[in-house]
Amino acid sequence: MLIESIVRKTLGLKRHCVKKVTEEHGEMIVYLIPDGRCRLICSCCGTKGPGYDTLKERHWKHVPFWGIPVVLVYAPRRVTCANCGIKVEAIPWAKGKSPLSAPLTVVLATWAKILAWKVVGELFGFHWNTVKKAVKDTVDYGLRNRDLDKIVYIGIDEISRKKGHVYHTQVYDLEEKTLLWSGENRTAETLESFFDYLGQDRCQKLIAVCCDMWAPYIDVIKKRLPHALLVFDKFHIIRHLLYAVDKVRKEEVQKLKPENPDLLNGTKYIWLKNSWNLTEKQKVRLSDLERLNLKINRAYLLKEAFRKFWDYTYQAWAKRYLDQWFWWATHSRLEPMRNFAWMVRKHQDDILNYFKVRINNGAVEGLNNKAKAISHRAYGFRSAETFKLALYHGMGNLPMPLLTHKFV
Ligand SMILES: [Zn+2]
Repeated sequence: MLIESIVRKTLGLKRHCVKKVTEEHGEMIVYLIPDGRCRLICSCCGTKGPGYDTLKERHWKHVPFWGIPVVLVYAPRRVTCANCGIKVEAIPWAKGKSPLSAPLTVVLATWAKILAWKVVGELFGFHWNTVKKAVKDTVDYGLRNRDLDKIVYIGIDEISRKKGHVYHTQVYDLEEKTLLWSGENRTAETLESFFDYLGQDRCQKLIAVCCDMWAPYIDVIKKRLPHALLVFDKFHIIRHLLYAVDKVRKEEVQKLKPENPDLLNGTKYIWLKNSWNLTEKQKVRLSDLERLNLKINRAYLLKEAFRKFWDYTYQAWAKRYLDQWFWWATHSRLEPMRNFAWMVRKHQDDILNYFKVRINNGAVEGLNNKAKAISHRAYGFRSAETFKLALYHGMGNLPMPLLTHKFV
């Protein structure tokens, strides 16, 4: 029969046969039996051995066929294994105790990378929990089977969930641009648990770590990775700088309010954007404002001058320029710029490490946007566990279990 042979081929059956396929209550039921001519395989060690007894019948949800739900039915055998004693046989379409067939798990998990889990459930006629289970099994497999031994540069960042009420610390592999680890909170303990997870040997292999000037992280990194270079992330530093510039603008707007309330209206991004990204209209506005001796204009010039710092090739030259810039900023009579300059001075050595190892979390920025999209897409991620699952699945680039037949 064609249908039997399709089942046999797509499941890659070698030691099992299809006994019959029936239709019951709108479902296609596939009854499987062991091939009596073959010895059984031990599920623990893979050794062949004689059968011992037969267990209770089990049911697996399988990939729907032409929109018809499919159920696999089989009574597993136990095998007398020379190494392990009496064990359940290896069942090629099963993964542990999961009620989903291995192909169905992969099919649902594959679609769950692209679509919201709820939508996948609706398309295939499964409950959201079934999709979640498929993702969880796939992620567990991926985490068990990925190779963490070649990681040398990591980037640490944070994202928020529940509109900023819950933070997650994210650790990325900066070379592969994948998520390595995600943990709730952004405390020292959070990061400690990542290094525990990675293990001493792999920590030793790390050459550099890129992160924000976030004190709890810094202490942990210096304690756990004394040999590695700490590089403060360029993009975070720029973000602090832009924050300072904007603070100068806000303060000036307040000061101008009584006499000239509209002068700086709608100029926020003129000061913050890269100069080459300004529109023609913004350029005209900027050159008008530049003629007035405004504080925000001085902050803007300091910001533009700071940009040059990153262009240096040699650390010594970069340091000399930074000293110069520090003097400008601290003599600018602009409080926010002065504070930024002092923050930079405090972390200067680790900022200058950038000129030894040019890593930044630029790639991470894209990944963080992806994380945000993942968190927006799914309303079901109320728990940290499910959220992490979705992050690993979407951004971990984890290996998927191999199937004999490609179902999707
Ligand atoms: Zn065995």
